Amino acid sequence: MRCSLQRLTRRDSILRGDPSSMRRERVSDDIYVFTSDLYAQVTATAVITGEGIVVFDTLPFPEETRGMLSFLKGLGRGPIRYLVNTHWHGDHSNGNFLFENVQLVCHQLCAQTMLDMLKLRTSQIRDRRPSDEDDVPIRVPDITFDEGELCLHLGGKSLQMIPTPGHTPDSIVAYIREDKVLIAADTMMPIPYFVGGNHMDFIRSLETLLQLSIDTVIQGHGEVLLRGEVREAIQSNIRYLNTIQQRLGEIIRAGQNIEEALRKLDIESCGKSRISLNGMVQDLHYANLRALYQEMTKSNDNLVVPDRQLHKRI
Ligand SMILES: [Zn+2]
Repeated sequence: MRCSLQRLTRRDSILRGDPSSMRRERVSDDIYVFTSDLYAQVTATAVITGEGIVVFDTLPFPEETRGMLSFLKGLGRGPIRYLVNTHWHGDHSNGNFLFENVQLVCHQLCAQTMLDMLKLRTSQIRDRRPSDEDDVPIRVPDITFDEGELCLHLGGKSLQMIPTPGHTPDSIVAYIREDKVLIAADTMMPIPYFVGGNHMDFIRSLETLLQLSIDTVIQGHGEVLLRGEVREAIQSNIRYLNTIQQRLGEIIRAGQNIEEALRKLDIESCGKSRISLNGMVQDLHYANLRALYQEMTKSNDNLVVPDRQLHKRI
């Protein structure tokens, strides 16, 4: 998920970063989750194997990522061997440049987007003074995959990376078979968010997750889900996606416009709490409605801010 940072906390504290605000949780003997309290409870995960450490995503602010790296180094469980980006959004990849001598792995679409961003930034910097968003160096991935899944076998762990388009076209999840832990990234959040992605792809991807035997889900934003909650949480997200499609269909057939839709379809009437992620889910919900309304009516009313523009700052 990508949104403007300024709306979430004061800019000076953001720029300073604050590793003490990062929460750390051990979800199995070998798996640690780090959660940012500075930005939308975004998570990064470290899997400790017998031959080193694999990290999934970075945290949004360099100081938080440095705090995570320092903790992992202190464990004395070997070097970090691989960093995996679950998708290209900056809240999950801004810290890539801090992983020196670590192989960076992601989906081919993720790598392509990062290369496009690098080209765009290079051309923009020629013409103007660099802004804050240019401060974080873009690191180009080393290993990519496109068709099918990628399973990394390392030090007694099988890390199965599965494409799950929906939140973005390049989204992947990682299933740690030995621990039955799913690192779901933004494919699982308190509310599915598909602006810049695809609604129907999202439903298919969530249905794929139901095929896995999962004890723990590490969401891209929000709390870790435990065994009894997992299936219901995935099904709840599928229900939400189906519900907004069905109800928007009714509104469109009745000849009502998007403003009417936004008034009628508050988040709770679509089956989701409005307090998750400190209330940010409501913004995500209304952005979802606008995007889907535009797709269903194929309108060109500029109802949706293009993803790159909406999320320009991170
Ligand atoms: Zn995110």
